Amino acid sequence: MPATVIHSVLLITGGVPASNAWVRFAGGRVSAIGMGNSWRSAGTGEAAGSIGEQAGDVEVIDGSGAILTPGFIDIHVHGGGGAANEAGAEAIRRVLSTHREHGTTRAVLSLVTGRPADLVDHLEVIAGLTNSLPGVLGSHLEGPFLADEYRGAHDPAMLRSPRPEETAAMLAAANGTLRQITLAPELPGAEAAIRAFVDAGIAVAIGHTSATYEQALAAFGAGASILTHTFNGMPGLHHRAPGPIAAAVDSPHVTLELINDGVHVHPALAKMLFALAPGRVALITDAMVAACAHDGDYMLGSLPVRVNDGVARLVEGGSIAGSTLTLDVALRQTVTECGVDLAAAVSALTEHPARAIGRGHDLGALEPGYLADAVLLDASLHVKQVWVEGQATLTD
Ligand SMILES: [Zn+2]
Repeated sequence: MPATVIHSVLLITGGVPASNAWVRFAGGRVSAIGMGNSWRSAGTGEAAGSIGEQAGDVEVIDGSGAILTPGFIDIHVHGGGGAANEAGAEAIRRVLSTHREHGTTRAVLSLVTGRPADLVDHLEVIAGLTNSLPGVLGSHLEGPFLADEYRGAHDPAMLRSPRPEETAAMLAAANGTLRQITLAPELPGAEAAIRAFVDAGIAVAIGHTSATYEQALAAFGAGASILTHTFNGMPGLHHRAPGPIAAAVDSPHVTLELINDGVHVHPALAKMLFALAPGRVALITDAMVAACAHDGDYMLGSLPVRVNDGVARLVEGGSIAGSTLTLDVALRQTVTECGVDLAAAVSALTEHPARAIGRGHDLGALEPGYLADAVLLDASLHVKQVWVEGQATLTD
């Protein structure tokens, strides 16, 4: 693979914008970054610090007027392009390629609540893809250990309390590729489950929960480290009952997921969250099968869903059932409608989600040594090109 130099861009990484910057990719990693015209001499000299490239074999891209960011990382996505993660390897390829056109270079594949045997099967499929299909970071179990009162679009017949045998079976099936599990900490047996998952190196997320402030604080104290789609599937902020959101804000190690599509959370509250937990918001899609597909009738796990004007709701009860969001739209919503600073918004879909799943050392930044995942955006924040491990993926 030839090396690539993208120059004259507004580079945004680590929460800091740098104008007239350049980035060089070689051997699938970022090999060097710099400013101005120094990229011209960086190919042959010491500055390149390159890995296995040949002098002269360099693709040069003039990024004048464009913005370069690390690849977007979605740690909570169920589907897209008419495909769902539960439908097997081919469907997962489709989900990834659909979201990649919108800047997502890596994703943790979310699974909705289902029968134990089915969840084990899905975990095995994703485990098989995690080390072979670029872009798959592993799996996210959203359920089945969720609170009925805040179940959202999860099948009530399949919700249950955690039992050690079932958590052990999940861990075995995932074979080290389960990255995240969402559970309700107030359920019987949840405390032991949180410990077991945290000990296995899995990010435990609190969500679809009726937990009080105190219960949520205890769960975060026991090692839970993510709040699943903040505001959705949980009690809201109340001045006499602060609930799980305040507990997450008060726990400095916790990342707060946000579905910022203008439907799930009012822009005023989305903006407030960035102010309440600076450096800790992770923009997610929670996208379901209808993202980048047409309106109509779909299934979310075992439940029928109808999508109207891009808003997915359960046919029975009308609860919001995932989103049809992509991360580029979330970025524009965050900057344009919520007034969040562009660099802070970019961190929320790169650096913060990478750190939340323990990949802050090689993903979510454009610095020498990091994987060469990047997104080139025009001035209106629309995606122009996407690189995964140094390879350009969009053809038009
Ligand atoms: Zn979800």
